Amino acid sequence: MLNSSCVSLKIKNGLKCVKAQQSAQKKKQTSPPLHSPARSRYSGVAPFQSPLIVSGEVPTTNSATSHSLSRQSPVSTIRRMGELKIEKHVKYILSVEKRKDDFVSVVMEHLRLNGAYWGLTTLDILGKLDAVDQDEVVSWVMQCQHESGGFGGNIGHDPHMLYTLSAIQVLALFDKIEVLDIEKVSNYIAGLQNDDGSFSGDMWGEVDTRFSYIAICSLAILHQLDKINVERAVKYILSCQNLDGGFGCTPGAESHAGQNFCCVGALAITGSLHHVDKDLLGWWLCERQVKSGGLNGRPEKLPDVCYSWWVLSCLIMIDRVHWIDNEKLVKFILDCQDKENGGISDRPDDAVDVFHTYFGVAGLSLLEYPGLKAIDPAYALPVEVVDRIFVSK
Ligand SMILES: [Zn+2]
Repeated sequence: MLNSSCVSLKIKNGLKCVKAQQSAQKKKQTSPPLHSPARSRYSGVAPFQSPLIVSGEVPTTNSATSHSLSRQSPVSTIRRMGELKIEKHVKYILSVEKRKDDFVSVVMEHLRLNGAYWGLTTLDILGKLDAVDQDEVVSWVMQCQHESGGFGGNIGHDPHMLYTLSAIQVLALFDKIEVLDIEKVSNYIAGLQNDDGSFSGDMWGEVDTRFSYIAICSLAILHQLDKINVERAVKYILSCQNLDGGFGCTPGAESHAGQNFCCVGALAITGSLHHVDKDLLGWWLCERQVKSGGLNGRPEKLPDVCYSWWVLSCLIMIDRVHWIDNEKLVKFILDCQDKENGGISDRPDDAVDVFHTYFGVAGLSLLEYPGLKAIDPAYALPVEVVDRIFVSK
């Protein structure tokens, strides 16, 4: 059930949405998008199969995402938007990986596997994954596995879906999926599906559409989607879509950008995006851009670099990325860099962290910033890694 404040928020958002529709319609008619509209490779594919295989294309590193044109943007455009301090960010990520006993590391200890995924994926997008000792990372990841098959956030921690996906993604980055006992991990994940199609995060039973995404993404990477009831999983996700077009964590819960990524990503992977009203969802998403160019996660909230990922990835998956001002967003992300010591923060002049550094760099990759590897909007892994999983093998 929706509470009253939630309803008024929705009505307010609905009104704003109509206004935005009108102004965006005007914008659409008068000025063409700055970048070539990103074609989604996730639209209209058959259910339960890899979109790459279904589409029949055999992509090379950059051709899988068709929005590679602006990766060769003219120098003047880049100068106008600002410059990504690639070397500084690499240095920053490597320094965080090494730091084991300062305050941040201690507080983040239970999240180390998530942190490893954020840091290593950033390095890969920046083309510097070889700066880390692959064997050391893989061996540490495997020590985080619990006898149930799930992974904890660090060695000796309780298993949870959140860390299990990170473990699978890190192994995928290094092309080391084969070190996994796939049967065991996939049974752990499949065992967390509930009768209504939803998923729990762990044995304690919290239900959230984040866990639906994690289950579907993980099992797709492992080629084990047939272990769950995909139809019911999709039905549950669709039951979490609100009248404003956005998705919440459970049926009736307020629409939130992070939850949109999870739901749209899961629907994209299972080839179920045709169930979604893309225009309605697209308007909710493009409404997230504020004056500074940054994106927020919900109406009336401040912009935050991490939403560059949650919102943008959805807009790309539903083919509506040209509905926001891409150049302004690039500038907002670049303004959040620590230009001296590397790293990206949530907003300009705040303290940097690995989480926002990853989402900033991943967002720039989605925006085709020059010099970055393309990232897949549904799997949140470099396109070449996704191709390796679904095409090469
Ligand atoms: Zn954030």
